[in-house]
Amino acid sequence: MSVELILLALSPIFLLCIGYEFIKHRALYDIKDSMANTALALIHQGADALSLLALMPLFYWLFELRLFEIELTPLTIVGAFLLQDFLYYWFHRASHHVHWLWAAHVVHHSSRIMNFSTAFRQSVMYPVVGMWMFWTPMMLLGFEPKVVLMVVACNLAFQFFVHTEIIKKLGWIEYVFNTPSHHRVHHAINPGYIDRNFAGVLIIWDKMFGTFVEEDSNKVCKYGIIGQIESNNPIKINFHQWRHMLSTVRAAKGTKATLRALFGYPTSSN
Ligand SMILES: [Zn+2]
Ligand SMILES: [Zn+2]
Repeated sequence: MSVELILLALSPIFLLCIGYEFIKHRALYDIKDSMANTALALIHQGADALSLLALMPLFYWLFELRLFEIELTPLTIVGAFLLQDFLYYWFHRASHHVHWLWAAHVVHHSSRIMNFSTAFRQSVMYPVVGMWMFWTPMMLLGFEPKVVLMVVACNLAFQFFVHTEIIKKLGWIEYVFNTPSHHRVHHAINPGYIDRNFAGVLIIWDKMFGTFVEEDSNKVCKYGIIGQIESNNPIKINFHQWRHMLSTVRAAKGTKATLRALFGYPTSSN
């Protein structure tokens, strides 16, 4: 439950940011879009809390098999943050390249608008597609599950602040950290911007693994997905890609084609 508690504790700050951005930059908001984002956040948080409760015995069983005894010291805590952020990078990169994972992650990308409330736009299906699996190596290594989930929550909380157009560039911070500028590129579908900047907290992973692109200040970001969905219905937003993926699976002939439909590069539903 620690994940939900950390996010809940920070929610007044999140709401203040949204309130400020809404009042000062009203043009960046569409009420229906923000209401959909809020509904999606609540459904997501509920599903996440339940699934983490159900998964906890598995997490502690994996922790029993741990390779090392890791004492919590400032150094090992920094290590946990670095390792989780590294795993997040690969989770996120895989979420853009594997249809099964994209079917959940697409929800976060399906708004044409970018503001702080976009951070809330999350899928109910993350527990089903197995986002949690990406954190299990940390438990096997020797980090206690509750520590791992705490670090995951901090990473996600940080990412709230990169969903905005009102912060342009942040000087030296841009070299090391994921920033609003880097994340605008990530949400944009302009040529050259798609499937770039997968960072959670540190942008260094994108630079190391060749997926970094700097925001071009002369290029206006066009947000959303290829084959935009024109809906603010949370059910449709959560499941439109599943419908499409399952129809491609049904149409697939043979095992290879079926596997490609499920785990190949995502295709668009319209
Ligand atoms: Zn993404
Ligand atoms: Zn985002």
